[in-house]
Amino acid sequence: MTLNDSGLTPIYEKIQAGQRLNLEDGERLFACPNPVLLGQLAHVQRTRLHGLHTTYVLNQQINYTNICVNHCRFCSYHRQKGQDKSFEFSLQDIETKITAQIQEPLTEIHVVGGCHPDLPLSYYEDMLKTMKKLRPEAILKCFTPVEIEHFSRLEDISTGRVLNRLKACGLEMMPGGGAEIFDPPTREKICPQKISGQRWLDIAAQAHELGIKTNCTMLFGHLETRRHRLEHLDQLRRLQDRTKGFLCFIPLPFQTRNNKLQGVTPLSGLEELKTIAVSRLMLDNIPHVKSYWVMLGLKQAQTALYFGADDLDGTVVEEKIGHMAGADSPQVLSRTELERMIIDCGLQPVERNAFFEPVNELRQAAATPDALHREV
Ligand code: SF4
Repeated sequence: MTLNDSGLTPIYEKIQAGQRLNLEDGERLFACPNPVLLGQLAHVQRTRLHGLHTTYVLNQQINYTNICVNHCRFCSYHRQKGQDKSFEFSLQDIETKITAQIQEPLTEIHVVGGCHPDLPLSYYEDMLKTMKKLRPEAILKCFTPVEIEHFSRLEDISTGRVLNRLKACGLEMMPGGGAEIFDPPTREKICPQKISGQRWLDIAAQAHELGIKTNCTMLFGHLETRRHRLEHLDQLRRLQDRTKGFLCFIPLPFQTRNNKLQGVTPLSGLEELKTIAVSRLMLDNIPHVKSYWVMLGLKQAQTALYFGADDLDGTVVEEKIGHMAGADSPQVLSRTELERMIIDCGLQPVERNAFFEPVNELRQAAATPDALHREV
C-alpha cells in the first residue's frame, strides 16, 4: 500500500508543513490498515526531531512502598497496610539501596510509590536529602502528581506548598505517572479513588510553573477507546502549549495480570505500536517519546524505535510496579545491553540524564570550561 492508496497524503502534508493534527486526523491514522506506513510517518517525525539518536539513561528506580489508599482497579502493585507482601522502606532501607549502586555512574534516581496512609511529608523530605547527600551528581526525579496531592491532603497544606518544600530538599524533576486516561467515565471505572485527570493536569502545571520539569504518561489497552487516547494526547499538548514543562511522553500498555480488571483482552502488539506512532504524530510539542522496555518487553521496545519513539529509558535496577502486574521483562539492563539493543536497530545510542541532556557533552564541558568560554 502506498501513501496515496492509504488516503493519508493530506495528513503527511500537514506533518511536512509542521501543522498540528486534529482528533479526526488521529482517528484516520488509527484506521490506516497498514501499520508499517503509520510507523514510517511517525519515524519521519522522530528523525526530524532527533535524527537517529536514541537516548538511554543510567538510572535507579526506587519504589518505596506498595501500601496505598487508592485501590486502583487496574493496579497489581498496591497492598493494604499489614497485608501479605506489603512493604514500606525506612530511610535506612533507601540508603542501603542507593549505597549498593554507588559504584555505578548513575545520573538519575527515579522514585515513585503508593499513597501511604500515614507517612508524613518529613519522611519524603528526609528521603530526598538522604539521596542527594549520597548521590549529589544524580538528578532526583520523584513523586507523581497523584503522590503530591496525597501528601498535601495528609499534611493539610496546598500542593504548591508541598512542591516548594520538596524542591527545597532536592526534588529536581517529576515522573509522569498517574495520568492513566483522562476521560472521566473511564477513569471512574479503572481508578475511582484517584485524583481526576483535570487535577493531575493542574498539579503538573503547578510543578512546571515552579520550574520543575515533568514527564507525562498514558495508560492504554484497558476500557478506553481510541478516541479517549486521542483526547488524552490533546489535553497533554494543550497544557504543553501553556507551560512547556513536559520533557517526555511515556505510553504505557496495560499489564493484564493480578488486578481487578482481569478479563480485559491484552492489546495486540500492532495496536500498541500504532498507539505509540499516533502519539508521536499528535504530540507535536513534546520533545521525546519513550519506548519503556519494562512494560513493552525488549523486542517490542526495539520495534517501537521505528514507530516514533526515540528513548529507551534506562538501567532501572529494580522495578516492582510493572513486574507485579506480570511484565516479563528483566529487572535490570546494563549500559552495554541498552546500547546493543539500539545499535542492533541501526540507530545511534546517546546516554542522557533525566533532563535529556547528552551526558558526554556535559562531561566534556565540565572537563574543559575554558573551551566552553571561548566558544561563547
Ligand atoms: S496505581 Fe498507584 S495510586 Fe493506584 S492503587 Fe496502584 S499504587 Fe496506588
